[in-house]
Amino acid sequence: MSVTLAGWLDRHRSVPRLERELLLCHHLGLDRAALIATPERPVDPTRLEHLESDARRLAAGEPLAYLTGERGFWDFTLRVTPDVLIPRPETETLVEAALSRLGSGDRVADMGTGSGAIAIALARSADVMVVAVDTSAAALLVARDNAARLNAQVTFVESDWYRELAGRFRMIVANPPYVAAGDPHLAALEHEPSDALIGGSDGLDDLRCIVGQAPGHLEPGGWLLVEHGFDQADPVRLLFETAGFTAIELVRDLGDQPRVTLGRWEDGHGTD
Ligand code: GLN
Repeated sequence: MSVTLAGWLDRHRSVPRLERELLLCHHLGLDRAALIATPERPVDPTRLEHLESDARRLAAGEPLAYLTGERGFWDFTLRVTPDVLIPRPETETLVEAALSRLGSGDRVADMGTGSGAIAIALARSADVMVVAVDTSAAALLVARDNAARLNAQVTFVESDWYRELAGRFRMIVANPPYVAAGDPHLAALEHEPSDALIGGSDGLDDLRCIVGQAPGHLEPGGWLLVEHGFDQADPVRLLFETAGFTAIELVRDLGDQPRVTLGRWEDGHGTD
């Protein structure tokens, strides 16, 4: 029996409207304007079975990005799988703050690249050399594929944080795992890789490592920028101070939440 686009959307009211529409568009190869303009159009019957099963998975809490296999970030679309965290819009705050401090030819390291979102955004938007690190070989496969498809010049390194990283960088950026183990918020994130989300009992384990060891990997005058939880600005600032960073700043995301802390590494002689 045939069903119209509007009829199908109506049938799946338990799924939020936008997600329902995006799922339908993805399966039928339509954009949302076409969906809205032609609600009486029939749904291709050969797609119905798969659509129904994806609608059930969405209703059960699976993220849309894992069902469609893609998520928009910055000015491009990334492929995502359950091996990587789904890129969040707040991470674009970090990209903006990074770009405003980068110059031509700078070397940048993206620690814990996941899908490659930050590394690819920087490589496409500035004349910089980007090295992207992840400890997960599965995540690196996704990131490499994204970089190749999006023509981003990024070098990938499989490494537990800085362990395999050679040389010094003008900038280090990271969106590390920063959710505390046992945070009730994790229930809503159960489909995403816990290794990419949980930063130990207080959520700060990985930030402690990234910030504490950054001076050994930065050029004099170089920058460190990290994303963190909305309630972690004070402890992260303290990590930056303890490691010897100066010009420490907190940047808020579009939702006005404290989201990124950055600082400058002087070489210890007061020169720049
Ligand atoms: N922003 C994610 C969330 O709490 C966490 C990402 C991370 O741990 N890096 O939804």
